[in-house]
Amino acid sequence: MNATVRVDNVSKRYGRVEAVADVCFDLGEGEMVALIGHNGAGKTTLMKLMLGLIRPTHGSIVVLGDNPAAGQFAGRRHLGYLPENVSFDAALTGRETQTFYARLKREPVAKALQLLDTVGLGAAASRRVGTYSKGMRQRLGLAQALIGRPRVLLLDEPTTGLDPELRQTFYGVIQRLAAEGTTVLLSSHALTELEERAARVIIMNRGIKVADGSVESLRSIARLPTKIRLKVANLAPGEVPSWLPASTACRRLNGHIVEIDAAPEQKIELLRCATAAGTALEDFDVVPPNLDELYAHFLHKAEGMP
Ligand code: ATP
Repeated sequence: MNATVRVDNVSKRYGRVEAVADVCFDLGEGEMVALIGHNGAGKTTLMKLMLGLIRPTHGSIVVLGDNPAAGQFAGRRHLGYLPENVSFDAALTGRETQTFYARLKREPVAKALQLLDTVGLGAAASRRVGTYSKGMRQRLGLAQALIGRPRVLLLDEPTTGLDPELRQTFYGVIQRLAAEGTTVLLSSHALTELEERAARVIIMNRGIKVADGSVESLRSIARLPTKIRLKVANLAPGEVPSWLPASTACRRLNGHIVEIDAAPEQKIELLRCATAAGTALEDFDVVPPNLDELYAHFLHKAEGMP
C-alpha cells in the first residue's frame, strides 16, 4: 500500500480530556475509509491533526510526505477538507465563494466553477450564500473541498443535511476520486450508507482505535451470528421446523418467517438440514451482521461489556 497518511502513536490531550489516545494507522492511495464513533470519540480531532490545525501531544503524523506539526505544508494544496460545521460569507454568491477558494488554492477558477454543477448547485451559483438552505451550504462545502482534485480528502460528516439524491451523487463523486487514487477519509454516523461504500472502517471509542478493517474482516473478527430467514410452507403459527438442531436460537417474524441466529460455521449445515428434511422452503435469506451491529459489538468489547 502506498501510504498518503501515516498516523503513528498519536495522542492529543486537551487538559484532562484525552481526545485521541495512542492511535496508529496508515491510509493508502485510492482507499475510501470510514471513520466512525460516538460523539466525542476523537474523529474531528484526528482530522484536525492531519491538517496541522492542531499538534499532537505525542506521536507523529505525516500527510503526503509532510509533517504538519513541524510546519511542513508543501502538500497542503493537495488536501481537501470539508469541516463538520461549514460556514461561508453570507454576502458572497456561490460562484464568488468557489472563486475565492480556487484562488486561495491557486487552482484554475473555471475548473472549480464546474464543481458547482457536479454538486447540483449550478442553477443557484449566482445567488447569495445567505439565501442557501442547509443542504445547499453543505453542497457548496463539498464543491470547495473538491477543488484541485485533492490527493487526500478529509470529509467530516459530509452527508449531514444532504437529500437522498445528492447523497447518491456525492458517493458517486468520491468513489470516482478514490478510483483515480485519492485517499478519502470520511467521518459519519450514517452507518447504513457506509456499509456498502467504505472499503475500510476505523472505529473510535473515547479516543482509542478499537477496530480497523473491511466490513468483511470485522465480521470475521467479531463472529457475530448471521441471521438466516426461512419461509417454510405449512408451518403453524408459533411452530418451528422440526429439523432444526435443538440448541438453535430461533424466533418467528411476521407469523410466517423463521429467523435463526447461526454461527458462521453453522450456515451451510443449516442449509443442508433444511433441504435434506424435504421441507417446502418458499424463501431463504442470509443476513450477515450489519455495520450497526458490528459497531455496537466493538464498542461493547472496548467498554468491557458482555
Ligand atoms: P462528534 O461526532 O460529536 O463530532 P468527534 O468524534 O468528532 O465527535 P472530537 O470533536 O474529536 O469528537 O472531540 C473529542 C474530544 O475532545 C471530546 O471530548 C471533545 O470535548 C474534546 N475536545 C475537542 N476539541 C477540544 C478543544 N478545543 N478543547 C477542549 N476539548 C476539546
